[in-house]
Amino acid sequence: MSNSTTKNNKLFIYFIAFYILSYYTLIIFFKSYDAILLIGGTILQIVAPLVAGVMLIKQFYRKSIGSIRYFWLLSSLASFSYAIGMAIFRYNFAYSVQYTSLSDLFWYVAIFLFLIALISVMAITKNTSKTIQYIFDIIIVMVVFVSITWYYVIEPIISSALEIGLMYTIVYASYPIGILMVLFALLSLFYSSENVLPKKTFILIILGFFLLLVSNLYYLYLTINNLYEQGSFIDPLWPFAMLLFGLASLYNHEDFKVKGKPNIRIVRKSGEIFDFLTLKLILPYLCVLTIFTFMIFQGVLEINSIVIGSIASTLLIIVRQILTLIQNSELLYETKELNRELEMKVQHRTKELFEKNQQLEESMEKVGYIAYHDSLTGLTNRRYFEKVVKNEIEAAKRVNSKLAIMFIDLDRFKFINDTLGHHIGDLLLISVANKLKSIVGEPNVVSRQGGDEFMILLKNTTQEETEQLAEDIIQELQSPILINGNELFITSSIGISLYPEHGILVDSLIKRADTSMYSAKEQGKNRYQTFNVKMDDHVTMKVNLENGLRKAIEMNELSVVYQPKLELGTGKVVGLEALLRWRNSHFGNVSPSTFIPIAEDTGLITKLGDWVLREACLQIKRWINEGIQDIKVSVNVSTIQFMQKDFIEKVSSILKEISLDPEYLELEITESSTLDMDIAIHKLKRLKQLGIMISIDDFGSGYSSLSHIKNLPIDILKIDKSFIDDIENDKSNAAIVSTILSLARNLDLVVIAEGVENERQYQFLQEKGCDQIQGYFISKPLSVDGVRPFIESMYQQSI
Ligand code: C2E
Ligand code: MG
Ligand code: MG
Repeated sequence: MSNSTTKNNKLFIYFIAFYILSYYTLIIFFKSYDAILLIGGTILQIVAPLVAGVMLIKQFYRKSIGSIRYFWLLSSLASFSYAIGMAIFRYNFAYSVQYTSLSDLFWYVAIFLFLIALISVMAITKNTSKTIQYIFDIIIVMVVFVSITWYYVIEPIISSALEIGLMYTIVYASYPIGILMVLFALLSLFYSSENVLPKKTFILIILGFFLLLVSNLYYLYLTINNLYEQGSFIDPLWPFAMLLFGLASLYNHEDFKVKGKPNIRIVRKSGEIFDFLTLKLILPYLCVLTIFTFMIFQGVLEINSIVIGSIASTLLIIVRQILTLIQNSELLYETKELNRELEMKVQHRTKELFEKNQQLEESMEKVGYIAYHDSLTGLTNRRYFEKVVKNEIEAAKRVNSKLAIMFIDLDRFKFINDTLGHHIGDLLLISVANKLKSIVGEPNVVSRQGGDEFMILLKNTTQEETEQLAEDIIQELQSPILINGNELFITSSIGISLYPEHGILVDSLIKRADTSMYSAKEQGKNRYQTFNVKMDDHVTMKVNLENGLRKAIEMNELSVVYQPKLELGTGKVVGLEALLRWRNSHFGNVSPSTFIPIAEDTGLITKLGDWVLREACLQIKRWINEGIQDIKVSVNVSTIQFMQKDFIEKVSSILKEISLDPEYLELEITESSTLDMDIAIHKLKRLKQLGIMISIDDFGSGYSSLSHIKNLPIDILKIDKSFIDDIENDKSNAAIVSTILSLARNLDLVVIAEGVENERQYQFLQEKGCDQIQGYFISKPLSVDGVRPFIESMYQQSI
């Protein structure tokens, strides 16, 4: 019990003492003041059961104590019923109202409820030690009580039956019977076991009931003999009993019963004779003594030496018997203690062994868990996956069923990780893992291969089902993921291989799913691809391309072409976009959309990017020297390049080296470079300080929105070709472009439409007030030599 509850209990004990003392003060000092006695007595009689009722019901609402709750509920209801009975009784008493049995009704109910409450506790006691000895003890106590009650209460009621009338007889007689039943229940409980309730609670309840019992019987005795007056010394005993119940509830502490078997150890300090057990043993003897005492005081016997002698010898025998009993019980107690200690030791040892075993099991489990799980996402890992696939292939072979393996890779995850940090990257992976788990479901297996790669095994499936699921995964992963307040957009590429069509071994199935995933990436990411035989060649091709690209600069295979940008208002060429070209002796012309992703994957992009930047700057310088002025050249910057720590320094050192005026240079970055706003803003500001213009390339194809862009220090927005395609027919594309245009105007940004291929697109953009256009409609990318004639021809046209 905590300190505060002990304090509460103490306070309540003081309250009880104060309450009962006040009552006695009232009785003693205001005996002749009827009104005060009546009012004070009424209040004190009613408040106590109400207080008890509230305290008892509180125990009912404490959920932890199981079926014993009903004991508290019933005794609380009994207290309230008792209070109502008392209120009616007092009212009748005060106004000398003709006797009605209404108060008796409520008291009956109270007795009945108390009785049921006690029985409900008895019902829970399991180790009822109903030994013959205890049954005898109960019978002895009952016999004594019944005899005394009979003599003083029941017989007088019966003998005055004619006088008081039948109704009174029944009412009066039913009380002692009810009370005796309560006594019987109490005794049974007392002799059965005390471990349903905490010891103090139990003792207080028994005490309370005993008090009620004695005071009620005495009250009946007084009433029958017309001796009862208000202000009798027994009056405070009722509220006292009620408050004892309240106190009992305070000792019914939380941890009792919850921990399982309560502590039933009877603490016996040396010299403390009258403990629970002793009381149990000597109670029948006390009762015999009591009835002897009554006998003597009633003068039933003529006192002579023989009577004195027989009483004295009986008493001596009783005392001797008690002493033997105490001795026995002490011996018994010691044996029990020894036993208990032994038991405890055994228990302790068993527990220790059990715990050790459990620890061992747990660590075994842990080892197994770690060996087969990914610590970040909690998914199973590659090792586990391969094992399962192997088993499933065996099973599928037997029943002739199909399996599918999906290889999932998150597109541009590396960017997120590099730009937003590993922590965000980790959170994103966890969220993706959870999404995958919930889409895929049992009995299929989701596992993490490492990095941003996941694998899924689908059991007993078909190609259609698998592709449908791949589609679902792509859709689900596309929806924004909120991490630390950032709305992250991630897409995924999925490769699928099927058993048995694409392989019958674990390795080949996984490898082919992987190959298909790369193929999906090459086709533009955010899609799935099922394996086909051509892909194997493709992979070899990719490896060869990578090797070729490594030597491209040295082999002089690279060149830059320039695509003009036209200003719609003036019809003049105002800029050129530098685009990298690679012509390999073996592969011929390789498209940037093929080799740029390979360069990005392998990190070669920084080397290539630097080369293009220097190349373009040198070319601008040449053009300026040749007299072509007022034309800006934009150079594409990959995110990996942009995120390099020394990117700004590199740019500025190239400009210095060539001594090129920075205002001729424009850098095209993509939205993924701006994922980390702080870094992006910082870098862009420094670039702008150098005097370089910045444009956002492929706007709309990536992650961000205009609200994201508006905080960035940029100058130009290049609307992605996908919005311009079909703009003349596709209403939603047209609407998007119109909105981007009007918003960009508000943000003071120049807008360039990319990939304009025909007149109608041109017209539309002109009408909507787009600033510049770029596309085959104006010109395909031009070699260095082609630029000058083109600019001149356009200049001619514009005038
Ligand atoms: P981008 O920066 O959006 O460049 C525009 C791409 O669209 C170019 O493709 C260009 O040839 C093409 N294009 C322009 N007008 C039209 C049109 O009307 N119709 C069609 N169908 N296509 C049009 P290219 O040169 O193949 O480059 C593709 C992408 O490769 C570029 O997209 C850019 O992201 C990347 N790239 C090219 N050169 C470099 C470079 O030097 N560095 C980096 N980091 N990326 C580069
Ligand atoms: Mg570009
Ligand atoms: Mg573009």
